[in-house]
Amino acid sequence: MWFEETHNDFFKQAIRVEEKLAEVQSPYQKIEVYRSKEFGNVLVIDGHGMLCDKDEFIYHEMMAHVAMCTHKDPKRVLVIGGGDGGVAKEVLRHPEVHVDMVEIDEEVVKISKEYFPHIGDWENPRLNLTIGDGIEFVKNCQPKQYDIVLVDSTDPEGPAEGLFNRTFYANVFRILKDDGLVVAQGESWWIDMPLHKQIMGVMGEFFKIVMPYRFEMYMYPGCNWNFILASKFYHPTADIILQRADLIDGLRYYNSDIHKASFVLPNYVKQELGDLYKW
Ligand code: SAM
Repeated sequence: MWFEETHNDFFKQAIRVEEKLAEVQSPYQKIEVYRSKEFGNVLVIDGHGMLCDKDEFIYHEMMAHVAMCTHKDPKRVLVIGGGDGGVAKEVLRHPEVHVDMVEIDEEVVKISKEYFPHIGDWENPRLNLTIGDGIEFVKNCQPKQYDIVLVDSTDPEGPAEGLFNRTFYANVFRILKDDGLVVAQGESWWIDMPLHKQIMGVMGEFFKIVMPYRFEMYMYPGCNWNFILASKFYHPTADIILQRADLIDGLRYYNSDIHKASFVLPNYVKQELGDLYKW
């Protein structure tokens, strides 16, 4: 059998799977888990492939460590979404960092603990998990609480829709300290350039540095995937903390060369982004 994903109305991709291991309809979304011989277990939310055992480390390392090795001395990190636990686990590889994680759907956490037990670091005493809406959380949060915010969300639909708009980023800006920075799921400049530009534009209303970076996610439509780093102060390539970037144990993708190279943009992307690219 095949898990087939349709993206927008013009792109389809499929991977062979052996069986469906779980299906849960939560109050927010439909969550499925498949077993694949080639990709391991596969997490699907509302028909979209989220992650698989084979390449989840790329996404999680690239969301966590680019931010953690750009900021001079991160101590408090907020993760919005990330219910599989992967981004939080990567952040917690950095000693003395405390992670607040706000995930709206408890079913995602439960299913991840059962079918992807190696991805999370749930028992870590430096992790504080809240089951709640990240939109409400940032709205009600006191100013200047966090060094870094990581928005590891699903696509801008359903419960995640409000994680991509101006109100949300006004609040993210407000709860970040004066040298804070945010990294968000930026979709793909290859298969979704209009949406990518829209997210860049919203972040650019508040932050002086707004730079996308790329990595490959074989599970995602078209493979090329982008995060966007927006920063009040530090620059992701000029201020990279090299000694930290190459000293983190256990990484399988991220290193200081990948960090720097991921911010190199193709000509067509630079031309398309124009002034949205604030570097
Ligand atoms: N980390 C995964 C990966 O490697 O691609 C994908 C992201 S993670 C599964 C996306 C999470 O965002 C989901 O668990 C979803 O429940 C959560 N989410 C969506 N909207 C949210 C909101 N408003 N507040 C908090 N979490 C939200």
